[in-house]
Amino acid sequence: MMYFRLILFIFLLYQVSAKCPDIISRSGWNASPPGDVTFLRENPPSYIVVHHSATKSCNSKQDCIPLVKSIQNSHINDKKWSDIGYNFLIGGDGNIYEGRGWGIRGAHSVPYNKRSLGICLLGNFEIDNPHNNQLKALEDLLYCARTTNKISENYRLIGHGQRSSTLCPGKNLYNVIKTWPHFDPHPQ
Ligand SMILES: [Zn+2]
Repeated sequence: MMYFRLILFIFLLYQVSAKCPDIISRSGWNASPPGDVTFLRENPPSYIVVHHSATKSCNSKQDCIPLVKSIQNSHINDKKWSDIGYNFLIGGDGNIYEGRGWGIRGAHSVPYNKRSLGICLLGNFEIDNPHNNQLKALEDLLYCARTTNKISENYRLIGHGQRSSTLCPGKNLYNVIKTWPHFDPHPQ
């Protein structure tokens, strides 16, 4: 009986944890600490803004970590932001890297920063295609966020360029997300 309860407990624990993919924490990519932290005004937020990094892509943790780190350096040193702009980044290695994380206001899409999470897929998708494992990681992260109440249940998925004059997130990525269920063709 005790063993049965133990197995049931482990099973339930697995069910809860199975909703969310592993996320490489800031310490996992040697992030510099944020200069300042502001929380989202609307939390859980109703928008997810998808970006690309418009850089080379990366296919292993060994390649992706320096790329994430270089994006943080550029956002802090060149753009003078307090931290890496995005809430999460996803490599061509299929790993999710924590940027500002959940509930924190990002710097990635001016009209939406207060009420969205910004997720950046590493690569240039005007030229290349996003990797399948990269898209799967994005889907898993969105599923996790919705089922753990970190984004609104009826969240809207948009590409950066829908409200700003930018090619971001690149046509090859945009063409994928616009077929996904929560995509909003006319964001407000
Ligand atoms: Zn963007």
